[in-house]
Amino acid sequence: MIDFHCHLDLYADHVELIAECDRLGIRTLAVTTTPSAWPRNRDLAVGSRCVRVALGLHPQLVAERASEMELFERYLSEARYVGEVGLDGGRDGYRSIPLQERVFGRILDLCGHMGGKILSIHSVRAVPRVLALLEEHLQPEQGRAVLHWFAGTRSEAQWAARLGCYFSVNAAMLRSAERRKMIAELPPERLLTETDGPFLRLGGRPARPRDVGLLVEELAALLSLSTDAMSSAIQRNLRALVSFDVAAQGEATDDKDGQSPR
Ligand code: MN
Repeated sequence: MIDFHCHLDLYADHVELIAECDRLGIRTLAVTTTPSAWPRNRDLAVGSRCVRVALGLHPQLVAERASEMELFERYLSEARYVGEVGLDGGRDGYRSIPLQERVFGRILDLCGHMGGKILSIHSVRAVPRVLALLEEHLQPEQGRAVLHWFAGTRSEAQWAARLGCYFSVNAAMLRSAERRKMIAELPPERLLTETDGPFLRLGGRPARPRDVGLLVEELAALLSLSTDAMSSAIQRNLRALVSFDVAAQGEATDDKDGQSPR
């Protein structure tokens, strides 16, 4: 199982969750929302078989935390994964969009310059701006983008696919008929799964990485595949994603996978 976007550090049992991911073999990307959260997340996951940590600056926090870009730049060389980053043009973000665009553009430039980074990107009510900035600042060979909780149109999805983007899909996205249709048309070789816990809630409680089991079943049904075939496809997609730049991967000190990317 793969949970490519979960905020492990926002759960009361962060340490137990890392152990749970290792025990159940759930390959989890622990995204963070501020650069100052990096050292603790990195240290807690250092011995983990399945958890990888991403260095993030959440767009909804950019207005109050833009000063942490200095920390972001300091930690970036340690991080193979970057996220949660991006733009938020929704209720909680639209006022700071100009600043968010400068910060996100800068993050993309830094990632492109360093090379080999894999980004988990937020694009609420800002899909065209996110894609335009990606197109301008990060070529596919310089880094890979995974659009988390993508809610764009069909033509925006096609644009994203042309830019080499992956899509991490969660259970909430499958609750809308319109969204299901869009997901069914995404390139199958670019699909990943995520929970976005604890923000996403299932049955009245925060989602946990192990909930991706049910999500894979639902996704399999949507795409008329067996659960096994769906699960193998997602694992294959993750392998392709993490091996896009093995040379740079070797240089990223955060990476523990060496020449056998997972
Ligand atoms: Mn998130």
